Amino acid sequence: MKQRCCNLNSVCSKNYGRRGIQICEEWLNSFEAFKEWSLSHGYSDLLSIDRINTNGNYSPSNCRWVTTAEQNRNRRDNRYITYDGITKTLTDWAREYNIGCKALERRVNLGWDIHKALTYPTKKEELKDLTGVKFGRLTVVSLAYIKNCAFWNCVCECGTLRIIRGASLTGGLTKSCGCIQKEKASKIARGRDYKKPIVQIDMHGKIIAEYQSPIKASVATGIAN
Ligand SMILES: [Zn+2]
Repeated sequence: MKQRCCNLNSVCSKNYGRRGIQICEEWLNSFEAFKEWSLSHGYSDLLSIDRINTNGNYSPSNCRWVTTAEQNRNRRDNRYITYDGITKTLTDWAREYNIGCKALERRVNLGWDIHKALTYPTKKEELKDLTGVKFGRLTVVSLAYIKNCAFWNCVCECGTLRIIRGASLTGGLTKSCGCIQKEKASKIARGRDYKKPIVQIDMHGKIIAEYQSPIKASVATGIAN
């Protein structure tokens, strides 16, 4: 009994010390009242005091003694998250996006953006089978190997085989074997060739020579450009 009272004392003082949490007048003024309520409401050393409505005060009508697991569940059931203009409890969001409550809570506590917290794949999902899926010009043929994350054998529309990291495919970073970039580069190069040739004129303004590039003109005429 004495031990119980000591524990109750520490629970009580800990709560007093917490900022922003209101404790009802009755308990604030009388530790005896708090003790009496606790003992008649199933107090045990193994339980902790929990507020039924987490936004409410510490008061006889809003408190109960629960196990840590129950307290954690209550906390998640009472934690509201607004995403895309809709507000739901953390538990409901987790259920809707098929993610563990604990995982979602951990992500939110780490300060993740809500969209990312709800949609970022867990390790397990990252290893989901991508065989046959098309990403840009690449089609996944089979799993190549796993090294921290999955790498996939892909075939490009141009016929080239490449091993690409799964996250690069699903994240839209890699869309070809590299042929898209090559095509872009050659298009730019071709564009350069179509530029007006450099012309050499005589003192009357008559064209006497044409050169495809400043370098060619420089080489032919000996004049630095
Ligand atoms: Zn290609």
